[in-house]
Amino acid sequence: MGARAWEWQAGKGAGVALWRVAALEFPGVHAVFSARLGGCSPPPWEGLNLSPAVGDDPARVQENRLRFARAAEFGLEAVAGAQQVHGAAVAVVDRPGSAGPVDGLCTDRPGVVLTIAAADCVVVYLADSGGRAVGLCHAGWRGTAADVAGRSVRAMTASFGIHPGDLVAAISPAIGPCCYEVDGPVIRAMAESASWAGDVLRIRPGGHALLDLWAANRRRLLDAGVPAASIHVAGICTACHPDRLYSHRRDGGRTGRMQGALWLAEREG
Ligand SMILES: [Zn+2]
Repeated sequence: MGARAWEWQAGKGAGVALWRVAALEFPGVHAVFSARLGGCSPPPWEGLNLSPAVGDDPARVQENRLRFARAAEFGLEAVAGAQQVHGAAVAVVDRPGSAGPVDGLCTDRPGVVLTIAAADCVVVYLADSGGRAVGLCHAGWRGTAADVAGRSVRAMTASFGIHPGDLVAAISPAIGPCCYEVDGPVIRAMAESASWAGDVLRIRPGGHALLDLWAANRRRLLDAGVPAASIHVAGICTACHPDRLYSHRRDGGRTGRMQGALWLAEREG
């Protein structure tokens, strides 16, 4: 499921590579996720760092953003973003620019490119199979416990009149259950937030656990009414793939950010 839904595309201009989320690309819908290849940033961000908030030179970040936008075929002037505060607020946006202190974005406006940055956290993609609207959100453990994915589904159903059964979803490369060890406060927050938390936590000696953020966000989407067959998990661990991906956990906090981008194409004429 993951392999065909998430297509790796190498050899874009300037050596840039990216994933194309083929499962979401209904007519007029475009969905991509960046990789670190082909960027101009030096260590510790080595590669295509897309965030100016991690200590990298803004001019290099801008160059990287240009390279990614060219490879993915969108215009930087069309980008809408979020401050990403590890919350669960979702903004309905109708224009480019920052939507403020939110972690989820959705729109029904063609030509507005939704973007979310991450380096271990999950980026959840949502697209109406009829091409009427798209949504994108950021879910680390806090956002997962607070159900930002479910809130994104509900924002789209409430704002655009879309049935959850018509949504197709994708879960980005993110830190996997192989590598994401968490401690007591995270275990408690997850356990308090969902009856099925035990299914996504593998308890380890010493009061720690391995948390499966991929599965947890899949459960959030199921709970919100997205059909199981319509959820496409990349199943690619950021910490296990240093050649392609940044990982906040693996790199000790000093690293770059990837970016998910999702948009409706502007109609001709
Ligand atoms: Zn891993």
